[in-house]
Amino acid sequence: MQKILMIKYAELNTKKDNIGMFLRTLKQNIEEKTKDMATIQFDKGRMFLKTTEENFSFVLKTLKKTFGIHEIEIGYEIEDTKMENIENVLKEIALEKDFKTFKVETKRSDKSYPLKSPEISRHLGGILLKNKENTMVDVHEPEITFYVEIRKDHAYIYSEKEKGLGGYPVGTLGKGLLMLSGGIDSPVAGFLSMKRGVKIEAIYFESPPHTSVEAKNKVESLVQILSEYSNSIKLHVIPFTKIQEEIYKNIPHEYLITIMRRMMYRIAERVAYKNHCKILINGESIGQVASQTLASMVAINKVVSLPVIRPVACFDKLEIISLAKKIGTYETSILPYEDCCTIFVPDHPVIHPDVEKCEEYEKLIPYEELIKEAVLNEEIVTNQIKKEFEDYL
Ligand code: ATP
Ligand code: MG
Repeated sequence: MQKILMIKYAELNTKKDNIGMFLRTLKQNIEEKTKDMATIQFDKGRMFLKTTEENFSFVLKTLKKTFGIHEIEIGYEIEDTKMENIENVLKEIALEKDFKTFKVETKRSDKSYPLKSPEISRHLGGILLKNKENTMVDVHEPEITFYVEIRKDHAYIYSEKEKGLGGYPVGTLGKGLLMLSGGIDSPVAGFLSMKRGVKIEAIYFESPPHTSVEAKNKVESLVQILSEYSNSIKLHVIPFTKIQEEIYKNIPHEYLITIMRRMMYRIAERVAYKNHCKILINGESIGQVASQTLASMVAINKVVSLPVIRPVACFDKLEIISLAKKIGTYETSILPYEDCCTIFVPDHPVIHPDVEKCEEYEKLIPYEELIKEAVLNEEIVTNQIKKEFEDYL
């Protein structure tokens, strides 16, 4: 009896001509994450994975963190579609389970099979009633449903399923650059953009000695957690101290944050171009802080021409926190290390910044040079091995 995982795709039905590319990417992503632990086959709108008993839970866990999957059915493959074989496997599975009411539901994609789907369900239901004591059929609210699927060469029986994450396979929509701070919002923004098929690289601005090595380690841990939903994620660490100090020394303090964020955007755009990222992504949420009012967004956004995607723009903080908990970034995000946005906070940051004033103030610092130097001195961190995988080994 070969244990099998059958994958139902998410949202891919709308991708008529491109479906091949979506499925190939999904397969590659799974293969990359599971190494050689599973073999993958396609058959009529489904993907089938076979693995060994000992690797089974790792493979399942990996699938649950892979975008592009709607549902994972856990069951058994039957080599030959003879009714007697199906009966035997069904009996074996049912005897291991504890239930009082059940139903059998059959789907027959091999229309040449001698019995029709309802006849097969009825027949197999009868077999179970005979072989499993104290059970009865309940077609409306059964405790357990045995799904039988008869295809050309094989039959399958499933009784368990797990929900997938949905979305598109990571990489199918190109690459974006995530501005990743150590906070709660930006990792969630990264997760949501990956869900739409965007592969991400991340950029982090650090300001040592004002920000600590622990703050940077925290961002690396967040990258590690996010990479479980993708494959490896490249992190660009940008030295931001000089720029920040120049801003602090020369620019009226109510504009500190606005100008600092304009510099971040400029640098992010350059790193994006250099690394073939088509969009910038960040964790801004409308109205959350002074730099996220609509007027601030206008003034800050002005300095770049790449689209800036803000996946949590319209979420409130509680919604973002709840998602952060679900995806596993929250506990790391709340570790109390400072971010470069929080070290030079003015008492009264401007809420409606004026673009002309921004441009005027920026003339007070040699920002072009400073930006070039910062980009040139970036440090690249690539997480090679996934945490989960490491634990497993
Ligand atoms: P977060 O919780 O993601 O830190 P926040 O609510 O604290 O967000 P800000 O500090 O204003 O908001 O930052 C807004 C966005 O700017 C962040 O979500 C992130 O995308 C980006 N950002 C802020 N600080 C940094 C940094 N040090 N490195 C990279 N990106 C940053
Ligand atoms: Mg922050």
